[in-house]
Order: sequence, then structure tokens, then C-alpha cells
Amino acid sequence: MTTYQLEVIENTAKKDKPAQDQIPFGQTFTDHMYIMEYQTDKGWHEPKIVPYGPISLDPAAMIFHYGQTVFEGMKAYHTEDGRVLLFRPEKNFERLNLSSERLSIPPIDEDLALEHLKQLIKLEKDWVPKTPGTSLYIRPYIISTDANLAVGPSSTYKYMVILSPVGSYFPGGLQPVVIHVEDKFTRAVKGGTGMAKTAGNYSSGYQAQANAKKEGNADVLWLDGVEKRYIEEVGSMNIFFKIDGEVFTPELNGSILKGITRMSIIELLNSWGIPVTEKRMAIDELYEAYQAGKVEEVFGTGTAAVISPVGELNWQGQKMIINNHEIGELSQKLYDTITGIQTGKVEDTLDWTVEIN
Ligand SMILES: *Cc1c(COP(=O)(O)O)cnc(C)c1O
Repeated sequence: MTTYQLEVIENTAKKDKPAQDQIPFGQTFTDHMYIMEYQTDKGWHEPKIVPYGPISLDPAAMIFHYGQTVFEGMKAYHTEDGRVLLFRPEKNFERLNLSSERLSIPPIDEDLALEHLKQLIKLEKDWVPKTPGTSLYIRPYIISTDANLAVGPSSTYKYMVILSPVGSYFPGGLQPVVIHVEDKFTRAVKGGTGMAKTAGNYSSGYQAQANAKKEGNADVLWLDGVEKRYIEEVGSMNIFFKIDGEVFTPELNGSILKGITRMSIIELLNSWGIPVTEKRMAIDELYEAYQAGKVEEVFGTGTAAVISPVGELNWQGQKMIINNHEIGELSQKLYDTITGIQTGKVEDTLDWTVEIN
């Protein structure tokens, strides 16, 4: 392995920390950030921790024009006994490289990225909030930086990590959400970029989300782009169903994002002796099961909320009310167990957490 000397330039002008009970998502950043450069002849080099602040880019930088960029989302949690834990961070770096491969971005060294992330968080330990439900959101990302309008992969990149303390997703406890089943717009198709965490996948969903919000929905459930029949996922969450006592989730087909929470829920349920069937799921078949009174629980899964119970699905003017708009027993148990593991309250028997020390 190439050796990289991490340079640390400490910020002497530290900011005030926000009040922990009401931190809006993604608007407050810590005192430092991480940057590493890529150049074709040098590979990834010059890793640095520097004071948080604006960066300078050429107006022709490729990221502004053709969107060659990838990102990750993960969290650090404070335990009651004062430790700071990451949740399966190696899976995020593995996925970052998968996304990069799809976007023709050179891979980073996953072990090095984790090691440097730990050093960054160690320096920012006081920024990891302690109030129950809060955490430090971690945003690693890569941008293409060549000043060049020719369509094609950049020869220079920046890999960066910024950190943002975040409040509880559900300050008043788990709240079931209303979701619109989208049958006009498409998020992703097989062979496209749906399995990558890349910028354009998100901005292309805004129109559908805005329309859904006007009608009182919190988000949209995407269907497959070809037949508009098979269930894919919600805005930034995978989706699970408990139908007639069995747990189902759409199978990964190349257009669905491979969620680490999704993977963890499948593994956790398996460890409890509850099988999860990953398969192609048609929305009309879900509706039939609903009419037969068999749909017991629906929940979204992702780093932001961990579990987001779905209380209502709106599909072509038909309403599916799930579990009387109440949180299902399994949803609650999964939420309590995973957040318990993340914050050190529940024993980490599956060896998922990584301590910062
Ligand atoms: C990030 C993301 C998810 C959830 O992934 P986690 O690793 O569980 O946070 C699901 N769908 C999309 C589209 C996402 O961007």
C-alpha cells in the first residue's frame, strides 16, 4: 500500500455548537473537513484535514457540467458511556467505490479512507451530539475538477468529507408517513445509475416529490421505469413489507440503491429466525393483498431515519391505509434494536460498530 502522510491543519477559530434539541438537517458543519486530491500520474495523494470553508474551483470544472460525482451518507453516534461509534462504515466505502466505478471515477483505498475518517471524527469528537436520537452525519464525496468542457471523464478529482451534527429524525418518536406511489416520473432503469449514489439521481426526483407534497404526501415510492409496475424504493430509503406474516423487500436489480440499513435489517431478521424474501414485487399485487387485508406493515429504511413506518400509500387514486396509521410491532422492534446497537445500548452481537479511539 502506498503510504500517505495525513497532514492536519487545525482550525484556530472554533465555531459555537448548535443547541442539540433542534438542529435542522444538513445546515451546520463542524470546524474541519478532509480533502484528498487525485491526478492521473500521481493517483490519490495529499490527504489533509483542514479548517472547514469554501473551496476554489475553475468555472469550467467538470462537476458543474456533466455531474461526474458520487457521495456517501453515514453517521457517528455517542453512547451513554461516552464512546463514539460508527455503524458498518466499511460498507459505505465499499459502496462509494461501486458508485465511482459506475461514474468512471478512480477508486479510493477503502482502509485508508476509514482510517482518515476516524482521525477526522476524533478531532471533531465534541461535535458528536449526545441527546437521544441525535448524531453526527458524515458526508464523503468525490467531485471531478478538470477545467474542460469536453464530455468525458476528468483526470483530476477531489475526495472530501464534511461533518454535520443532526437532530432526531422523529423528535416525537416514530411517526408513520404518507407516500405517493409515482406512476409518471422515473427515478432509474436497469443499466442506468440507480444503484450509484450520484447527484443526478436525486435532482431528477424533485419534480415528482414536489407534486406528491402538494397532495399531502411526504415522499414518493418509485416504480420500475419500464412497466411502472414493480416496486423499487422511496426517495432515499429502501422499502419493506410485512404481508400475511412474511417479510418482503424488492430484490436488487441494478436500479435500486443497495442500502446498508436494508442489508442490516435482512441480516438482523435472519438472526431472529425471520426469513426475508427479496423478489420482484408488483404494485397491483400489493393492492390485491391490501384488499384481502394481508398487508400488515410497510416501512422505509435508510441511514437518516433508520426505520420510517409508512401509514398510507396512495396509488392511482386508491388509498392503502397500513396498520391504521400506527407503527407496527416489527417496525418498532427493528428500530429499537438497530438504534440500540448504534448507540451502544443493545449488545452488538453482529459486530457492526466501529469505535473511534
Ligand atoms: C442512501 C440511499 C438509501 C439508503 O441507504 P442506507 O445505506 O441504508 O442509508 C436508499 N435509497 C437511496 C436512493 C439512497 O440514496
